[in-house]
Amino acid sequence: MRTSLLTLPALLLLSAHLSAEDLDLEQAAKKREAAQRELYAKMKPADEAGFTRLGDPEKGGYLSLVAEAPQTLDDYKNSRPVRPTTERPYIVLQPLWSLDAPKKETLQAMKEYVAACFQLPVRIEETIEFDARDRKLGLTRVITVDRFKKRTEYDAEKILDLLVPRVPSDAAVYFAVTDVELYAGSDNLHGYASLGRRVGVMTFSRLWPRNAAAADAETLRRSLRFVSHEIGHMFGMEHCVFYRCPMNGCKNLAESDTSPLHFCPVCRQKLQWLLEPDEKKRNSALLDFYDKHGLKDEATWIQKRMKGTADERR
Ligand SMILES: [Zn+2]
Ligand SMILES: [Zn+2]
Repeated sequence: MRTSLLTLPALLLLSAHLSAEDLDLEQAAKKREAAQRELYAKMKPADEAGFTRLGDPEKGGYLSLVAEAPQTLDDYKNSRPVRPTTERPYIVLQPLWSLDAPKKETLQAMKEYVAACFQLPVRIEETIEFDARDRKLGLTRVITVDRFKKRTEYDAEKILDLLVPRVPSDAAVYFAVTDVELYAGSDNLHGYASLGRRVGVMTFSRLWPRNAAAADAETLRRSLRFVSHEIGHMFGMEHCVFYRCPMNGCKNLAESDTSPLHFCPVCRQKLQWLLEPDEKKRNSALLDFYDKHGLKDEATWIQKRMKGTADERR
């Protein structure tokens, strides 16, 4: 079925290639509840401070529509996720088809954020212009929006296929950033990433306010949330079902906007296990970033967290 932005509430999934077992909604909910109960019982109040537990799925929200199994820390470790190595430490960001100046600026901010967040070196490559008219590539489809309007959409799956042979030799993960409309199957997407192939893609197209000359704080937040979500996937993280977190699966932009930028205790433990970042250095890099880009709520949040950790050590 073709989804039109104007006539249907398009399902804008934050997607991944999930290898989850085929669960029905009820089974998935039972599994999640059991995993949540077990995890919350073990969590210390200090670890949870500043985070919101995910309760029962909201009616019409992502978890009420998708049979999402929980991925615990142990599940994550057992999945043997993609890991940066000395030879390939980089997160490489790849502009795909030319971005206008405000979006280039946002991409630069995303680079700084990703470096702070994952504590890995990050590089932006020169723009690639795949030939969208090349029928052999079969990259696009044209959707009839209404009697007067058509829209060209790009196949996210095929974009990933084109990226795989191009992954730079020093890249842990290779992530394309574009401004075209993306789809996979019948869904329109903000982002799409592989849990094993080290590639992913996101688009500004549906998160950028129409005709905005520059990214406001909310647009920047969205861009940062999406890039960290998809990079999380490329590092083997599945959707988070424990707290409000950038790794939450979301039905649409409104639902995604309710997730904070900071990774929840579970997702942070996963990243800590995988990347072993210096937590103090990471927090202060994030604070510098939030201050520089006027993200006041996030700056306050991380300051509280830094103070909390310092108090605990005393
Ligand atoms: Zn996702
Ligand atoms: Zn999480």
